[in-house]
Amino acid sequence: MSHSFGRSYLAIPGPSVIPDQVLQAMHRASPNIYEGELIDMVDTIYPDLCYAAQTAGRAAIYIGNGHAAWEASIVNTIAPGDKILALCNGSFGEGWADTAERLGVDVTRLHLPNSAGIDAAQVEAALRADHGKEFRAVILTHVDTSGSARNPIADIRAAMDAADHPALLMVDCIASLGCDRFEMDAWGVDVTVAACQKGLMTPAGMSFVFFSDKAIAARRGLTHVSPYFDCLPRIEPELFYHKFCGTAPTHHLFGLRAALDLIRAEKIENTWARHATLANAIWAAVDAWGQDGPIRFNVAKPEHRSHAVTSLSIGAPHGTELRKWVEANVGLTLGIGLGLAPFDDPAWHGNFRFGHMGHVNGQMIMGLLGGVEAGMAAIGLGFGGGGLSAAAQVIAAAGVNADAGAETAGCCTG
Ligand SMILES: *Cc1c(COP(=O)(O)O)cnc(C)c1O
Repeated sequence: MSHSFGRSYLAIPGPSVIPDQVLQAMHRASPNIYEGELIDMVDTIYPDLCYAAQTAGRAAIYIGNGHAAWEASIVNTIAPGDKILALCNGSFGEGWADTAERLGVDVTRLHLPNSAGIDAAQVEAALRADHGKEFRAVILTHVDTSGSARNPIADIRAAMDAADHPALLMVDCIASLGCDRFEMDAWGVDVTVAACQKGLMTPAGMSFVFFSDKAIAARRGLTHVSPYFDCLPRIEPELFYHKFCGTAPTHHLFGLRAALDLIRAEKIENTWARHATLANAIWAAVDAWGQDGPIRFNVAKPEHRSHAVTSLSIGAPHGTELRKWVEANVGLTLGIGLGLAPFDDPAWHGNFRFGHMGHVNGQMIMGLLGGVEAGMAAIGLGFGGGGLSAAAQVIAAAGVNADAGAETAGCCTG
């Protein structure tokens, strides 16, 4: 069956589906970078980024992907030789810890299961064991996109407070921002790291670091900071080009403006609610399929699962077979498995992920689930019945965002 007609759906955990409004906002000639529309428009981006992260702190924008923001977050807060505690429950937590280590930071890692949210009691114990209170920061992902568990950030803040530990709390929200509820200030987060190509629906190439006052004070205490990554000129620019340490990422900024318009119009609470409903619809289908077939969640407990990405196993080599079948036949691309098995292990072919972040709605999720059910049937895999109707019932019960959708229709003329 040809997949050359109709819209395809890239259902991987980033880059995510790009809204037409974002594409259209980017389709223009290069603007004047000295004065005029671009300069005025960029000023409007910062408050809306901070709204998405629920913070009154400061945001620095980087031309670079999430790895660039990882590096920026470390070089602005931690000196080489300083100690940090890295809570790792997946490949991305490990990756951020690697970045810090390669920058000369003394990283203590707590390796935790990727199939559940991090247990705050273990964090409290690790901090109490730091008698000299030497850790300058605790770093972790909000959602580790490999295993798809969501970490309880407010509980981890409470654990740090209970241990009376002064470390900065630094959270990677690259997968979760604009998908899973995240409240930087209310949850006591000092540094938040994000990127534009997941919940923020913009082509890959920009990333963001949000700093609390305490984090900015840590930056001011450092003597040598990479001139490119230094957040101070970016958040306190004397000239427009300081915001980007050079030429602005002009088209990305216009695209991001359109994406933030969508989030503003929907309202972030509704954005989180929509992702929750769509995730629940997916889980309902998987629960039904799993009644009489091999499909399994990596994260068994629903309350530990992200609303942005779902990591699944179906037995090797069926995960890879399923991905190939749905891509070739129904125009649906699923995410590869990450972190559940090494790439060179045959078991790797049993795992895959659904990305359900950003510009997604009920009919897309029903299409995703229908495509996967067709794929499982086509490759001869068993599955329990009723998956699609279970998902439809979740969507029916929620009546996803009827009001916000009406507002969105008129809001984004670029
Ligand atoms: C995608 C992702 C990253 C890496 O982002 P890149 O843009 O690929 O560098 C880091 N952390 C998390 C949690 C992610 O989901």
